[in-house]
Amino acid sequence: MYDDIDTAPCTLCHRPGAGIYHPGCRARLEEHLRVLPRLYRVLEVALVPTRGSSGGPVTGSRTAPLPCRLDTLDLRARGGIEGVLTTWERDVRELLGWDPPPACGSVEETVVSSAWFLLNQIPWIAEQHPAAYELADEIHQLVAHCRAVLGEEPAERRITLACATPDCTGVLRITLSTPGQQCGRCGTSYGWEALRALRPATRAVAA
Ligand SMILES: [Zn+2]
Ligand SMILES: [Zn+2]
Repeated sequence: MYDDIDTAPCTLCHRPGAGIYHPGCRARLEEHLRVLPRLYRVLEVALVPTRGSSGGPVTGSRTAPLPCRLDTLDLRARGGIEGVLTTWERDVRELLGWDPPPACGSVEETVVSSAWFLLNQIPWIAEQHPAAYELADEIHQLVAHCRAVLGEEPAERRITLACATPDCTGVLRITLSTPGQQCGRCGTSYGWEALRALRPATRAVAA
């Protein structure tokens, strides 16, 4: 489909003109994997004022928590940040034919070790992982979610647009700052303006 490597989409963001991937996309993924253990710890601090004077455990409380506190708990629980990271770690290990991740204690220790593992595998992930885009996208969304919960920055709203190529069922997921993107299905490249002229994708196309 792509006879010239320069027109191939970036493995990490699906935008064109990357060679294999944009150096900036790799740097962003590295930065986000480095920041996740910090966000995990900061979220714990964010929990403290809601614990009350009893100092008892937060889990099992029947009082209605603030939505933001629920978010914080979800992110810090097993299956939150930990779940996203270990799912990808397990996936990468499986693709490389390595042993599954070693069980390592607390949720925080797992977050730290899993983020570190993925950080070290970024060169391989960016070049070889068949779902590198999905991995990067999930890590970016996770960081955006943590930051939104912490009030550090609003999560950028994501819009799903339909590719304009006749008979192509591809969709392009963009935010307001996306400079351009390539349809992953038919390979059509859309620049800034062309992208913004696309129609929103609908789940079922009306007859
Ligand atoms: Zn890229
Ligand atoms: Zn298309």
